[in-house]
Amino acid sequence: MEDIQSLKDFLQLPRKIVITTHANPDADALGSSLGLYHFLINLGHEVKTIVPNSYPDFLEWMPGNSLVINYEKSKEEADKLLNEAELLFCLDFSGFGRIKSMKVVAAQIAAKVALVDHHLNPEIEPDFDFWNDKSAATAELIFDLIADYSGKEAITRDIAECLYAGVMTDTGSFKHNSTTSKVHRMVADLIDLGADVNKVSRLIYDTNSLHRLKFLGHALAERLKVIEASRVAYFVIEEEDFKDFKLKQGDTEGLVNYALSIKGIVVAAIIIDRENEIKLSFRSVGDFAVNKFAEEYFSGGGHKNASGGMSELSLEETEQKFKALIEKDILKTRVK
Ligand code: 5GP
Ligand code: MN
Repeated sequence: MEDIQSLKDFLQLPRKIVITTHANPDADALGSSLGLYHFLINLGHEVKTIVPNSYPDFLEWMPGNSLVINYEKSKEEADKLLNEAELLFCLDFSGFGRIKSMKVVAAQIAAKVALVDHHLNPEIEPDFDFWNDKSAATAELIFDLIADYSGKEAITRDIAECLYAGVMTDTGSFKHNSTTSKVHRMVADLIDLGADVNKVSRLIYDTNSLHRLKFLGHALAERLKVIEASRVAYFVIEEEDFKDFKLKQGDTEGLVNYALSIKGIVVAAIIIDRENEIKLSFRSVGDFAVNKFAEEYFSGGGHKNASGGMSELSLEETEQKFKALIEKDILKTRVK
């Protein structure tokens, strides 16, 4: 938080601020954005939150949701706000490639840029830098930013619940290696500041549709494949599955973890055929760095044990490419 003083100096005057986050926002992306939104509004700035595209409806309970601008739906309004902004906050991503069509305008506006993110290899060169790849979630960085800026008391119940949602999901409900004692101390503070943790976790995890649960059964029974020799398990989700099970955005989220939960499996993946694009997600336990794998072969990135990318090949070709490369790379790691 070295740049906190220069940010404070810049925010002495009321400013026009835009907060944005990566495409297909998850709970950390949206929770950290809305947490920061409420903080900056309370300081008296003019603040807008713009997301590159829509997010799943299990995030719509977040306070401030109705004020979020969807770039794909309101491009004209969003471009105007971006062009007029004096400060652009980039949250939970560190390369403009991750904000899709918003990149064209956002990457060349006059606004100063503040980066708050925990992904490896940042590409953005910010004026105010709050990047830290040791953080469990961008929500943790926003918590630190607010605490350093104004003191923890500035965290209202609304902010606390947005940040709790971010850190709960990005740590896999406090199970990943990123779950430090500091994370638990922060959560203790969030509870003291009013966060209802049972409410937030039910709103995020216990709002399944029956369709989604039936799809889960189908995916486990029909779409899960295991390459035992390489200790890899992966799902291939076909376009028909979306129609057959009336799937909505976000309904495939978390599925990949079932593949990783199989005893002995060290790398898991999900390959999804969706809207003219094949999306891949990777997870690993231990040494195999799935962010490097995603970066090298699938124009993606992320963290060592959780990453994602995309493919322009067909679903079948993508699966073949994935299989060949993962078997080769896993072998390489073992030989070392
Ligand atoms: P998920 O699999 O949940 O979509 O993403 C897991 C992690 O990989 C997240 O940290 C996310 O930011 C990163 N990630 C997912 N998709 C992409 C992508 O297409 N490009 C990059 N650079 N990172 C991604
Ligand atoms: Mn995150």
